Amino acid sequence: MSIFVPDVHRRAIIVDGHCDTPYRLYRHNLHLDEHDPEAQTDLKTLLQSGITASFFVAYVPPAYANRGAAKFAHTLINLIESEAGRNSDVLSLVTDSEGIRAAKRADKVAIMIGVEGGHAIEDSLDVLREFYGRGARYMTLTHVNTNNWCDSSGDAERHGGLTDFGREVVRTMNDLGMIVDVSHISDKAFAHVIETSRVPVVATHSSCRTLCRHPRNMTDDMLRALAKNGGVCMINFFSAFISDAVAEVTMKAAKRDKMERPPDPGGTEEMPNDRTDWDMFLKWYESLGSPAATLEQVADHVFHAADVAGIDHVGIGSDFDGVPALPTGLTDASKLPALTARLLERGMSEGDVEKVLGANFMRVFEEVERLSVRS
Ligand SMILES: [Zn+2]
Repeated sequence: MSIFVPDVHRRAIIVDGHCDTPYRLYRHNLHLDEHDPEAQTDLKTLLQSGITASFFVAYVPPAYANRGAAKFAHTLINLIESEAGRNSDVLSLVTDSEGIRAAKRADKVAIMIGVEGGHAIEDSLDVLREFYGRGARYMTLTHVNTNNWCDSSGDAERHGGLTDFGREVVRTMNDLGMIVDVSHISDKAFAHVIETSRVPVVATHSSCRTLCRHPRNMTDDMLRALAKNGGVCMINFFSAFISDAVAEVTMKAAKRDKMERPPDPGGTEEMPNDRTDWDMFLKWYESLGSPAATLEQVADHVFHAADVAGIDHVGIGSDFDGVPALPTGLTDASKLPALTARLLERGMSEGDVEKVLGANFMRVFEEVERLSVRS
């Protein structure tokens, strides 16, 4: 079934802030153009989505903290490079805003690199610089685990936010021209990042806590602080971050089943064996029988963030292939035009829709580039 694609969706530069496909390809030992029943994005649906630039994430599972985290990030960066290379007729690996614009003109999809989980730098600014050197243009300061310098919203507080070294990480990222991603971090760590960063920051995949209670989501105060900073909150599509009913079910069950922290996957001292981790989580999630969120509710989050933070501070960060359930109507990347259509139907102007789809992110990225310290 073909899906209606509004004109503005074809015209716009569309940026997806967070796509976890590399980790799926790694786990399943597949290429981007190969069929995978579990895929929320693959080459075909990515091309159908209308996305101009997708941040492919080098996600480092918490089990790698202090156990080969940097090496694992490099493994996924290698994978991203090789998948972009294999499909260079339609994809191009890009590291700057001009590259995104060039990809749009050439009718290609720009693949960008983000690193998820600050434990990936192994407490070393040199490793951080290495990731930048390899093309990573953002880093999510934590995943669901608190690391040695930043607290996570999904873990116990150890530092009361960011440590002094954590602040140095933020300043170094500002200097490099690497976007600071505040998704996943604790509320206090978020406040410390806002205090510390001299350039706008981005939540690459976070939704609104007023509409859905999950602590991964941004409170209205955080949205306002982000607006003041000039940044963007890119709305995550995961059902449990969109629908409060789903969040309630999953948060209760996580507590009951002690699933808040992933179990240690074993393996060697140097390298965990995490390939089955995700499958366990998926089975557990499916066993809950949670209701699905809806595309309409995703639109609710976009409108709420725009009401609170202003239309200039909202974007989209799908989290495709990083979540066990997507809303009905938005079940894979090819359905993205339906979200655009819904925003228009609900009265958002084409200009505002363009901002949400990518123009806001582009503004921030260009500012981060402009305010970097070039050697
Ligand atoms: Zn994430």
